[in-house]
Amino acid sequence: MSRVYNFSAGPAMLPEAVLRQAQEELPDWRGAGGSIMEMSHRGKEFVAVHEEAVRDVRELLGVPDEYTVLFLQGGATGQFAAVPLNLLRGKRRAEYILTGAWGKKAVDEAKKYCDAHVAASSEDGKFASIPARDTWALSGEAAYVHYTPNETIGGVEYHWVPETGGVPLVGDFSSTLFSRPLDVGRFGVIYAGAQKNIGPAGVTLVIVRNDLLGGASPATPGVWDYTRQAKDDSMFNTPPTFAVYVAGLVFQWLKRQGGLAAMAAVNERKAAKLYAAIDNSRLYRNPVEVSCRSWMNVPFVLADPALDGAFLKGAAGAGLTALKGHRSVGGMRASMYNAMPEAGVDALVDYMAEFERRNAPGAGVGNTP
Ligand SMILES: *Cc1c(COP(=O)(O)O)cnc(C)c1O
Repeated sequence: MSRVYNFSAGPAMLPEAVLRQAQEELPDWRGAGGSIMEMSHRGKEFVAVHEEAVRDVRELLGVPDEYTVLFLQGGATGQFAAVPLNLLRGKRRAEYILTGAWGKKAVDEAKKYCDAHVAASSEDGKFASIPARDTWALSGEAAYVHYTPNETIGGVEYHWVPETGGVPLVGDFSSTLFSRPLDVGRFGVIYAGAQKNIGPAGVTLVIVRNDLLGGASPATPGVWDYTRQAKDDSMFNTPPTFAVYVAGLVFQWLKRQGGLAAMAAVNERKAAKLYAAIDNSRLYRNPVEVSCRSWMNVPFVLADPALDGAFLKGAAGAGLTALKGHRSVGGMRASMYNAMPEAGVDALVDYMAEFERRNAPGAGVGNTP
């Protein structure tokens, strides 16, 4: 069996070493006589797995003591509701910065619970950039400011953390958490669905500053009440035990790679290689302003969309899969999270060059000078 390089935006590749370990441990977890999936979430075996995963999140991201790490369910989409429910704390106003499709979904959901204002948006420019910080219309009165550090569909990423004065900053880090070091202390809440850069679908990581606990709206579902879940160590209800276990294996793998500084170096290099291949070609184009191009998700279009089908077919034949762009934008998208080996990006770049040679205008019999 040979594994392909899977460029899916999510659920995405997991490190092969993690899959092998999970396979090895599946029927008889460390001599316990059964699978970790079959054990009580309150038993000492799973509690130890859960606690180690929380410790590793803290260690990898350098989470300060005054923050709580939660493993919840409902995905990032659930957090679109959980954030206003937990953070409004008597206020009515929240402010959102839009740089793509996910931020728009977040603000639409928040409107059910509060006055969710768009304080800045790059939609007029088709979400190909980040509005300059000095153009953001922040009132200073909002319960929180929400943004999307990496827009997974458009491929727009902040390479900086916005300053919001004393107003808690909330980031939907679904497609970039653990790709590089992060100054967690700048945030009120960080959240991320697992299936992009953390582990299997089904678990959602939430990191919340403790002074923001205690004020959830009474209408907040218990499973999304940060305070309730903090008191219950994320076990107000049955947690997604297998997903937490596999995410834990990913955290251990990240530590073995040298942690987030080491991951950042590889991720930056992978991205530089692919953007160079795009920018140096006549066939491929990426629409995003250079200063905010994503390291994780790289959309690109072919000069002639009639070649899209042949590009995808040839790629799949070369073991490069899931390169079709999001249905809302078309073209191609290469997602390359932590688990995408650098060799996978090298293989993609080689394939793109070879495809361009074969399909360049004038290529073919009789046209060689
Ligand atoms: C994928 C994604 C989501 C949605 O995640 P779900 O787990 O499906 O709810 C939200 N925000 C961003 C930035 C994403 O990439």
